[in-house]
Formats: sequence, structure tokens, C-alpha cells
Amino acid sequence: MPVTGLDSFLERIENTWPKLSIKCLDDLRRFIENSNCGKIEVFKFKHPALGCALHDGVSFNENIFDHPSSSALSKRVPFAFFLFVVFHEIIHQYQFKKYSAEKMYSYYIDDIDVSTAAREIKRLEMVADRGAERKIKEYIQRGWLPPGSDQKGHYRNAPEKAFEGLIHQIKNLIKSESHLRDYKNVVGISELFYDMIRANPIK
Ligand SMILES: [Zn+2]
Repeated sequence: MPVTGLDSFLERIENTWPKLSIKCLDDLRRFIENSNCGKIEVFKFKHPALGCALHDGVSFNENIFDHPSSSALSKRVPFAFFLFVVFHEIIHQYQFKKYSAEKMYSYYIDDIDVSTAAREIKRLEMVADRGAERKIKEYIQRGWLPPGSDQKGHYRNAPEKAFEGLIHQIKNLIKSESHLRDYKNVVGISELFYDMIRANPIK
């Protein structure tokens, strides 16, 4: 299945880090294609997140290509950090493939106890972090990243209360927007998330 936007995404990576090996780029392509990711988009988020994985694809915040933390010398975001963000979001696509969109969104839609749902969402985030950490290690071993480029995700330290807050926020949105349409389904919930990150929501 072709991934919409993948070619231009890889092209942009190549232009940003021109010394990248072709083998590395090929591996990245395969990793994304095998995840069942439907599309890849890059745009400026109004939300501070760096990426957002939904059932039909991944959106990345424009600033992953030019992060403010990037060194003044290169004026570019370190490649390892960039890759970590990409791996993390693509691993969410593997989770959608493994568990189904219905299951992945059920924590926001269904009558699941909020603290249980928060624990599950945190677990999914930690799995994505750990998978991305391993993938970075693999790239270091293959010589595609310099030694010492290891990345560490932050979700293991995230309080479950933060996830509970997000669940409440989404549930309230579903309620307050319910006069517009029924958001309690895969397409509806995905639209709510998309609107949250999008700079100019399309209504
Ligand atoms: Zn995540």
C-alpha cells in the first residue's frame, strides 16, 4: 500500500541531511510502509506536540525539521532527535494495525474508567518510546547515527493525571460539539484530534 506523502517526506529528509546513507533512507521507508500508515503530513501545529498519530496516518509538526533546540552551528535539528520523533509516531501506526482503531480510540469514546484508560494510554506511549529508543540503537549499530546519539523518551515520567486530563478534554469536546455531529466513532474522534493540532482548523 503506497503511503501518501511518503516520497516528499523522504525527499525533505534527504535535503535536510544530505549526507544520509541511501540504506538508512531505505530502511526508514520500509519501516514506515510496513506500519500500515496511510499518509504522512508535515505542517505547523497550533498544539505544542511534535507529532500526532491517527488511524489513517501521521502528522508531524513543521518544527521537527528546524527545532529551536538545534545547535547554532548546524541550524538543524539533530538527526537522532528527529528520527526518534518519527519512530515514536510510526510505532503508534503499528499499534493501530495490531489493536485496531476502535480499540485505540476506545479510551476516549467508551465508558471505560478514566484512570484505567489513562494507564492504558500511558502504556501505549511508553511502548512507543521504548521501541523508538531501540530503533535509534539499531541505527547507531549500523553506523547511520554517530555513537552516543541515544535518545530517551519522556513518557515513563509522565504523570497519569496528564492523560486523565486529555481524556476529560476529549470527552468534554465530544459532548459540547455533539450538536454538530456524533464524534463517538473512529472518524469523529480522529477529526477532533486533528482539529486540536491543526493551525487552521477546517470546519
Ligand atoms: Zn505518542
